[in-house]
Parts: sequence; C-alpha cells; structure tokens
Amino acid sequence: MSAPLIDPFHRAINYLRVSVTDRCDFRCVYCMSENMTFLPKKELLSLEELDRMCSTFIGMGVEKLRITGGEPLVRRDIMTFFAAMTRHLDSGALKELTLTTNGSQLERFADQLHVVGVRRVNVSLDTLDEKKFADITRWGRLPQVLRGIDAAQKAGLRVKINAVALKGFNEDELVSMTEWCADRDIDLTWIEVMPMGDIGNEDRLGQYWKLTDLRARLAERYTLTELAERTGGPARYVRLEETGQKIGFITPLTHNFCESCNRVRLTCTGELYMCLGQEDMADLRAPLRNFPTTTAPLQEAIRNAITRKPKGHDFDYSRQSVDGRVTRHMSHTGG
Ligand code: SAM
Ligand code: SF4
Repeated sequence: MSAPLIDPFHRAINYLRVSVTDRCDFRCVYCMSENMTFLPKKELLSLEELDRMCSTFIGMGVEKLRITGGEPLVRRDIMTFFAAMTRHLDSGALKELTLTTNGSQLERFADQLHVVGVRRVNVSLDTLDEKKFADITRWGRLPQVLRGIDAAQKAGLRVKINAVALKGFNEDELVSMTEWCADRDIDLTWIEVMPMGDIGNEDRLGQYWKLTDLRARLAERYTLTELAERTGGPARYVRLEETGQKIGFITPLTHNFCESCNRVRLTCTGELYMCLGQEDMADLRAPLRNFPTTTAPLQEAIRNAITRKPKGHDFDYSRQSVDGRVTRHMSHTGG
C-alpha cells in the first residue's frame, strides 16, 4: 500500500463515496426536476473503470466505500461491481462496503448484496404515507420500498433510514416515523435539505426544517442521550432512552463539522469532489482512461486533488437567501 492520503488540514481521507450512475427511477422534488437530462453512457465510468478507480483508492488507504447515485441499483449489472469489491473485503484492506438506496430494487438485490459482503444499507424514506410518498418522489411507490426494507432485514442487512426534514411535509410524522423504525429495530437519521442543483420552481427555503427545531420536538416526547459516536461526517447521534434506537442529525447548514471530514466523493464520470459544498473538483477519468496499464498517473492525480481539499463548505440559509449554493445536483455527486 502507498502512503495514506492526508489533506492540508491533517485529516486522513479514508472514506470514498462513489456515485455509479446519475440515473434514477424516482424524481424526488428536492433532488431532481421531473425532466432531467442524463449523461450519455460513454461519459460514465464503465464497471471495470469503477473497479480500477476504487481499487486504486483502497490501495491508498480508503477503508470505507459507500456506493450511491442516482439510484445505484438501477445501473445495469451493478452487482458485478459489488462482487468485484468483495476481494478487498476479503483481504482486509476494505473495512466496509455499503450503499445508499431509495429501496425500490432492494427486494430483488438484498440477498446478493449480503453475499458480496454488504452488511449495512441506508434507505432514503421521507414519509410513511403512500400519497405523500408518491408526491415527494413523483415516480416512487411506497409498498415497493417497504417490501425492499423487509427483504433487506430478512437477508441480514442492517437498515438505517435517512429522511430529509421538510417543513410542512413530514413534520407531523416525527413520532410515527420514529415509532415505526423503533418497532423494526431501525435507526433513523434526519437530513437538512441542501441547496444543490436547479430543481425547477421548488422553494428550498420553504422546504427547510431546522434540525434544532426537530430535535427540540423529539425531546418533548423522548429522553435524548447524546452519543459520542462520530463517523467523520456531518452527523451527530442521540439515543432515545424509551425505544433504545439511535437517531442521527445531519446538519451541514446549521452546524459545520468540516474539521473532522474524512471523505471525498467520486461522480459517475470520474470527477473527484473534495467537498460536497464546493465547486472545485479533479478529473480522474483522464488519467484512468489515458493510462490503462499503469496506475501511477491516477495515483498522482488523486494525491494532487487531496492537497486541494478545502477546510469546509459555505452553505448558508441564515440571511434568508440560499448562499453558497452549488449548481450540480445531489444525484450527480452522490449524497
Ligand atoms: N437514490 C439514492 C437515495 O435516494 O438514497 C441515493 C442517492 S440520493 C442523491 C442520496 C441522499 O441524498 C438521499 O438520502 C436523498 O434524500 C438525499 N438528498 C437528495 N437531494 C438532497 C438535498 N437537496 N438536500 C438534502 N438531501 C438530499
Ligand atoms: Fe433518486 Fe435518490 Fe435523488 Fe430521490 S434522492 S431522485 S431516489 S437520486
């Protein structure tokens, strides 16, 4: 293994999130417009290129790989890529292989995911109401996702639900979602809506539900014990004493936990974003494609990119305008 990746602020980069497609079978209103234009296939890294790219990062000290998108499970033959990553789990170089999914294809893939070594999945689910689910995802169907969650649990995968906190949308489901998750031994993490991409005429300030407010409401009902657990990302956790479950808060806007950031994000076209909230990126596809038989140029490009990892992002809703907005969609960089 080559020397570990350390950025200018002495943070060790050991976590890579990889978007394997920009396509999706849903059109969540905060993420995409209804008429999205997707990238031509030749722009995407092939499954073999994804393997080479991820293996290079793993050789440079990445220990945790999270596969995301778009919807990762709609990429054709994606299980071939997951299966290829098993060798890194077997060697011990990779400690964890996970994915973030909308759950629509989990019923089909849960068993296979477990076989290749995935042990945890994050499923995005903002509401338990069928009608509201159809509204927020535009194309999604709740029963299909619920069957996927059941299948994942049956296959032995630990499920965590990620819910975007949306004012006037799921505020009234705070307790019912908490109880639903508790009944199934599922942890639940709330995410603040972020200013990513042009999504038509949706109003993000209107959608924005402060997690400090959500947390205060939770505390009216449950006893919250702060947990010391840190994942290197913008999440903080509490335990609900009454249910025993873990509740997470991802608050890149109201708080800024960038000082402990250990991650970088690779898009499906091979761009490396050193920060979710900044525009700077490095093109890794060129050194990958131009040098098919040696990884040295790719490794050098990765090292150069890490030297440009910024101290933090500049998202800010506080002045009643969405400052620090970035123009690309979350589905491009991968959430
Ligand atoms: N399709 C998969 C899914 O929905 O889980 C993976 C990709 S999706 C872009 C990853 C996560 O980003 C989801 O949990 C989604 O709710 C979240 N997300 C998308 N747009 C967002 C936004 N503008 N603000 C906050 N979270 C967002
Ligand atoms: Fe698709 Fe996930 Fe974006 Fe929803 S949040 S449109 S499921 S990529």
